[in-house]
Amino acid sequence: MAAEPALGLHGGCGTLDRSLMSEAEWAESRAHVADALRAGWAVLSKGGAALDAVQATVVVLEDSPHFNAGFGAALTENGTHELDSSIMDGATLAAGAVAGVQRIRNPVKAARAVMDSGRAVLLLGAAADSYAEKAGLDMVAPDYFTTQRRVDALANLKRRALEGTAAKASEAEKHGTVGAVARDRHGNLAAATSTGGFNNKPVGRVGDSPIIGAGTYARNGICAVSCTGMGEFFIRRVAAYDVAARISYAGQSIDEASRVLVHETLAGYGIGAGMIVLGAEGDPLAPFNTLGMYRGWIDTAGHMTVATHHELHHLGHVT
Ligand code: ASP
Repeated sequence: MAAEPALGLHGGCGTLDRSLMSEAEWAESRAHVADALRAGWAVLSKGGAALDAVQATVVVLEDSPHFNAGFGAALTENGTHELDSSIMDGATLAAGAVAGVQRIRNPVKAARAVMDSGRAVLLLGAAADSYAEKAGLDMVAPDYFTTQRRVDALANLKRRALEGTAAKASEAEKHGTVGAVARDRHGNLAAATSTGGFNNKPVGRVGDSPIIGAGTYARNGICAVSCTGMGEFFIRRVAAYDVAARISYAGQSIDEASRVLVHETLAGYGIGAGMIVLGAEGDPLAPFNTLGMYRGWIDTAGHMTVATHHELHHLGHVT
């Protein structure tokens, strides 16, 4: 079945206080979003698979210090990193994930290796690290992921916790995540998500990002979804799968289904929530209930759009 390719990503939602970064830094974060989209589109425009496109997109975001995934990831309460990632193939419902990994430069590649092995869906901690090493993936020292910005944010959150003002911390200090959805020429859908979780998280805590159905889901003919926001609520509401279920069982449009989740179900807990979603046809949608969400997409006409807050930056046609 011939289909029109499309690609979308998010880089986490939150208050995204403009004063936290200079204009040059905001521009750089948007440039990294555009680079990630180009990497995924290079796969799709050559007739490649949606699965490869979401992986290529997420790898670029993991390598950027602007996003809470891979390099620049959030820190646990002990000042260490525990990274979570997953990937899902909408054509076969095959999926792979890793949680609590500490040495894999690009956790999404490890999620893909787990998926391709067919022996497990989710691998954990040190075992996942050594699995990735044996699979030949690029390994790094755990402090490779640490940036001064996250160290400062952790110190700030610990101070706030002592003062009892943790709730007032900006969302950007606390969390973030990256994710991508794609549809290829064959109509196959795929989704991938990668995160450091949230700053000051308990050691051993696993969020929604590596949980298939919570933070990531893809099924051909229905939708591909990658979520961002406080993962505990996405797990409880099986958020990504709920979007798919609303479409397939309740006949809702992808727009309605994702809006209900973000603006009603998850907003009802008082949390910031966002997602990137893509259906069997049409363009990606990026609903969020906060002041901003790093996001971008290349639509079926091949036009790229990137954004951090409400205004959209149209970057023209991508070849
Ligand atoms: N969903 C991520 C987690 O809970 C965090 C986020 O997206 O902000 O680990």
